[in-house]
Amino acid sequence: YLVYINGNFVPRSQATVSVFDHGFLYGDGIFEGIRSYEGNVFCLREHIKRLYESAKSILLDIPMTPKEMEEAIVETLQRNSLANAYIRVIVSRGNGDLGLDPRSCIHPNVIIIAEALAIFPKEFYEKGLRIATVPTRRNIPDALNPKIKSLNYLNNILIKLEATQAGVFEALTLTQDGYVCEGSGDNVFIVKNGKIITPPTYLGALEGITRNIVIELCENLGIPCKEEPFTRHDVYVADEIFLTGTAAEMIPVIEVDSRIIGEGKPGPVTKQIITEFRKQTKVRGTKVP
Ligand code: PLP
Repeated sequence: YLVYINGNFVPRSQATVSVFDHGFLYGDGIFEGIRSYEGNVFCLREHIKRLYESAKSILLDIPMTPKEMEEAIVETLQRNSLANAYIRVIVSRGNGDLGLDPRSCIHPNVIIIAEALAIFPKEFYEKGLRIATVPTRRNIPDALNPKIKSLNYLNNILIKLEATQAGVFEALTLTQDGYVCEGSGDNVFIVKNGKIITPPTYLGALEGITRNIVIELCENLGIPCKEEPFTRHDVYVADEIFLTGTAAEMIPVIEVDSRIIGEGKPGPVTKQIITEFRKQTKVRGTKVP
C-alpha cells in the first residue's frame, strides 16, 4: 500500500513520522475513520467536515482546503486500487521541540492511510454482542470534549481494556453522573416499545456520522427516535440495543452486564435499520473515478 504523507505517496514500509511529532509526543492532533463501499466513499463530506471542526476546536490549521483533502483521499484510494477500504486520515500538530507549546511545531503532518477493510466477524451481526459497563467514565465535555476526534484516545483505550478484562468485546461508557454515553468507539441506541433513544452528544459522546444517518433513517421509516439521557436501568430493560460506527455499521447487542436484552437475539427494529442502512451505502457518498 501507498500512504499519503504531506502530498507524497510512500510505500507502507517507509511511511514514518518523526519522534518529535507532537501527535506522537502528546497526542496533539486529530483523525477520521472513513469507509468506502465498492468505490463509493461513504459520507466523505461529513467526515471531512468533522475533521475540520475537530481541527478548529484545537486551534490546528490543516494546511489544505477541504476540497484538496477530498481529492487527496480519493487519490489515495485510486493509487491503491481499493474499492472496499477503511481510510484513516490523521492531522498531527507536526514536528516540534520537547515541551507542550505547539508554537514550536512549524507544519502539521497530514497522513492518509487506506487499507482493505477488515470487517467484524459475521457472528457479531447474526448473534449479537455481549457488552458491559466499565469503571472508567467518559471524558467530560468541558475537559477534552469527546466531540473532538483527537489523537488523544487514552480515555477510550482504558475503556476498551476494561471491557476486555470484563470478558466482553465492547464497553458501554457512563458520564460522571451515571448516564449512558456511548461505546469505546461507537454510539449506542436503545429500542423500547417501538421507540428509539440515543444519548444526546452534550453528555459527552462523539457525534457519530453513522449515528446521524440512523436518526435520519428513523425519520424516513416513521420510527420515533429521540436524543435523550438514559441510565443503565433503561439499558437493562430495553427491548433491543445496537451500536453504530463507521467500521461496525450497526451491531446488535444481546447482553449488558449479564442482563439478557429482550429475547437475547438481534431484534426486528435493529434488523430493519441495518437493512435500510446498507441500502444507503450504495447511494450516498463520493464516487472514486
Ligand atoms: N464514538 C467514538 C468515540 C468514536 O471514535 C467513533 C468512531 O469514529 C464513533 C463513536 C462512531 O462514529 P462514526 O459513526 O462517525 O464512525
